[in-house]
Amino acid sequence: MMNDDNNNDYREVTEETVTADETSAETDDKDTSSDASGNETDDKPGSDREDVCFICRRPESKAGKMFHLMQGICVCADCMNKTMNTVSSFDYQGMLNNPNISFMNISDLNGEGGIPNKQKLKKRKKGEKPAPIIDIKDIPAPHKIKASLDEYVVGQEYAKKVMSVAVYNHYKRVATDNMDDIEIEKSNMLMIGPTGCGKTYLVKTLARLLNVPLAIADATSLTEAGYIGDDIESVISKLLAAADNDVDKAEQGIVFIDEIDKIAKKAETHSRDVSGESVQQGMLKLLEGADIEVPVGSNSKNAMVPLATVNTRNILFICGGAFPDLEDIIKKRLNKQTGIGYSAIIKDEKEKSDDILRQVKTEDLRKFGMIPEFIGRLPVVFTMQGLDRDMLVKILKEPKNAILKQYQKLLAIDEVDLQFTDDALEAIADKAIERDTGARALRSIIEEFMLDIMYEIPKDDNIGRVTITGDYINGTGGPIIEVRDTSVHAKSPADA
Ligand code: ADP
Repeated sequence: MMNDDNNNDYREVTEETVTADETSAETDDKDTSSDASGNETDDKPGSDREDVCFICRRPESKAGKMFHLMQGICVCADCMNKTMNTVSSFDYQGMLNNPNISFMNISDLNGEGGIPNKQKLKKRKKGEKPAPIIDIKDIPAPHKIKASLDEYVVGQEYAKKVMSVAVYNHYKRVATDNMDDIEIEKSNMLMIGPTGCGKTYLVKTLARLLNVPLAIADATSLTEAGYIGDDIESVISKLLAAADNDVDKAEQGIVFIDEIDKIAKKAETHSRDVSGESVQQGMLKLLEGADIEVPVGSNSKNAMVPLATVNTRNILFICGGAFPDLEDIIKKRLNKQTGIGYSAIIKDEKEKSDDILRQVKTEDLRKFGMIPEFIGRLPVVFTMQGLDRDMLVKILKEPKNAILKQYQKLLAIDEVDLQFTDDALEAIADKAIERDTGARALRSIIEEFMLDIMYEIPKDDNIGRVTITGDYINGTGGPIIEVRDTSVHAKSPADA
């Protein structure tokens, strides 16, 4: 219980704080009005964001009704009580009259006043079960998912097929959640394929087509909680941000973890393996489905960040990696099985490598350094092909947003028609193969050659068409430049 003296103290302090705030509002008119307007939109009754306690960072759904203070700052009843108790037992008299002591304006702590919107959770409707992100009637059939993927991703037929079916089943599972006793198992995936063959691109395209939130994380940056690097749970934080802080939406999103082969168990190590096996261990509960407490609007938990609880049961996890040397492990197993050199059976090098990888089994992945519990939680395993010359040429010109189409569009704005001869495309593909980074090299190669063209062409209004030739790419000639009056002559871009 507060005594009378303390009550008086408290009144004085409150009055002092209010006047201080009013004065600052007068002196800094411009800033506060923008703050106020920013917060008005957050806190008005119809807003779909939850309030978060400024002190303990718990959202309203956890901490209970909030006290609304100035500038959008909210404090929960618990923290308000604790503050009152502290304030009431504190003697301010000496301090308030001391000109050397100034009081902090708590809104300064956050810069914009209150809790930034990116740290506010979307309100959940009480008592109502969250609606599935994709309605069971709207889940596109696997062949339709694949047809949409075909528009963007070249080749990788097997991977597209497996993914379409797995995703279809996954969202059926989410939509029929707990409708009866038969629980459909999760179809988390593991994709194995060389760098630049389209793993990330495939997942990104899929998430965009299905319109579900997607988080992409790199396994190399993950470490066991408490060590330098990102906590494993930070991937769920990213997903929550991608879902615009809507927990229900995030709980049905997709998480892609790249470079998963980099967290293989280290063969011989005497130090603690904080980024390998223990990351796999740490990911187990995420993959399986658990309530994870994650920081909102930040990668790490700290005192200034609100926390949200996200259940990962319906989140689809897709892991991808190049798994170098996996081929040798599979080869060894096959050789042991057949008793003859497996490599003798198939002639073509690339076909051989793709074919061997496709025969991957759990035991090979285990030998590679993935722990059995981890592999067990990724039931859909498939491989992707390395890209050959023909596929690279197709990637250049065929997808809906192919690189060539992008450049053609850019030049079309200047009313210039851009063409590439077949041998130019093949020459670009050959250069990409040399770099050994899959399709990733294509853009940088084209950019190199297009720089001069993009620089020179707008100088001359007469140019109507530019044709990039194999000779230009190989450095033995220039592009063909045609002027609008159809007279044709070849010159290098420098002469244009
Ligand atoms: P990784 O397999 O290493 O994750 P990415 O998916 O990041 O490779 O591929 C890099 C880029 O190459 C993509 O952004 C995409 O533009 C292009 N690309 C790769 N594979 C394909 C493909 N099969 N079809 C179309 N574009 C592709």
